[in-house]
Amino acid sequence: MLVLMNSLLLTGGRVVDPANHFDSPADVLVIGGKISAVGKNLSAPKGIEIFDVIGKIICPGLIDLHVHLREPGQTAKENLASGTAAAARGGFTSLVCMPNTSPAIDNSGTVALIRERAGREGLVNVFVAGAITKNIAGEELAQIGSLKNAGVVAITDDGYCVQNNELMRRACEYAKMFDLPVMDHCQDYSLVTDGVMHEGYWSTALGLRGWPSAGEEMIVARNILLAELTGTKIHCQHLSTAGGVALLREAKKRGVPVSGEACPHHFVLTDAAVAGSEKFWANDGKILADLQTDELPSWPAYDTNFKMNPPLRTARDREAILEGLADGTIEILCSDHAPHCDYEKEVEFDYAPFGITGLETELALSLMQLVHTKKISLAEMIAKFTVYPARLLNLNKGSLSAGADADVTIFDPEAEWIFRAQESSSKSKNSPFSGWKLRGKAAATIVGGKVIYSEQMDAVAV
Ligand SMILES: [Zn+2]
Repeated sequence: MLVLMNSLLLTGGRVVDPANHFDSPADVLVIGGKISAVGKNLSAPKGIEIFDVIGKIICPGLIDLHVHLREPGQTAKENLASGTAAAARGGFTSLVCMPNTSPAIDNSGTVALIRERAGREGLVNVFVAGAITKNIAGEELAQIGSLKNAGVVAITDDGYCVQNNELMRRACEYAKMFDLPVMDHCQDYSLVTDGVMHEGYWSTALGLRGWPSAGEEMIVARNILLAELTGTKIHCQHLSTAGGVALLREAKKRGVPVSGEACPHHFVLTDAAVAGSEKFWANDGKILADLQTDELPSWPAYDTNFKMNPPLRTARDREAILEGLADGTIEILCSDHAPHCDYEKEVEFDYAPFGITGLETELALSLMQLVHTKKISLAEMIAKFTVYPARLLNLNKGSLSAGADADVTIFDPEAEWIFRAQESSSKSKNSPFSGWKLRGKAAATIVGGKVIYSEQMDAVAV
């Protein structure tokens, strides 16, 4: 029998498509890689595979706009194939890769290289962010127009932060001319110096150099002022502090074109985790009701899997991030997936690189902290992973509208499972969540009508 390419019918699921304000049991019909129809009792044309996804959520393919794929140049940590495989396994159909590679993605040739390779080796859609400055050195602007022509969806010096405010202003003005959002890793170098964890009680108790909240808030405030001055959309990456959320909330009320994102580690963990598992579970870990079993995950003090930039902050900051997500101040969820090799992380805390992997755990952790706790609705969480990032970056993604690319995520919000970093599709295993019991899991990931990851979903009829 003839099987239609990139075509399938999903039946029995609950379709949640925030872009179309749709949330109801329905079928989804995909023909030739595009969404053909969403509705009740759809019948499949001959030769189409039918998947019964009863009890599962069907939503637009999830988008992660903050991922380090480490290509070119750092492929011992990750590459396009392994990074996109981890994305697929986590339920993601599109991602945006950061330009702080080696060499940096600061020119059209490198953008073209990544896009061409991603087309060949990537399992999911890969969008590219270009650098703001040449070699991410913060001194001279990259050729923003030619980056745009090469297809970047935003500019950022992520991992670094342009310190010269005049240069940042020019970057914003160019970005606006080319209709590109500017994304910024907010870190004031003079305040942060060589801090390795949040500056507070635990940095003092553990004898580690502090990275103060003001080091982030200073640049969030700078970005608000520059967004107001230039009219350019500035997106603050991985917000971690209560003060940053408050600044953003106030600026948005005034209509300043700024936005923000949060990563699960900042709204799950706190800096007490650096002091070891006992210290964490005794106090800050108590809010993780889902995890309260006899066997809580354990880790030693000074575990470098709890070192990231910006760092884990206090319980009060974590609460503020959760509030910011709940009231819409922070529109976007993402991972800041930052793989590093074992040998790089297995050193003293001071010397370890910042960053953790996140593509395979972010959906579950977001469900646990936001939806299962009833802080936001399931539809709102999905919007933060789909239509909102698509809107920010002008991507033609993030909805199940008829005619849209058939990028679809199917997940079970209740499935309980244990994440094991060693079994991850990523090349790197630097996750603080290894051994954690999680609730919520991707069941299948579909890109352009093709099932690229499936846990146990077999076609019931062909
Ligand atoms: Zn960053």
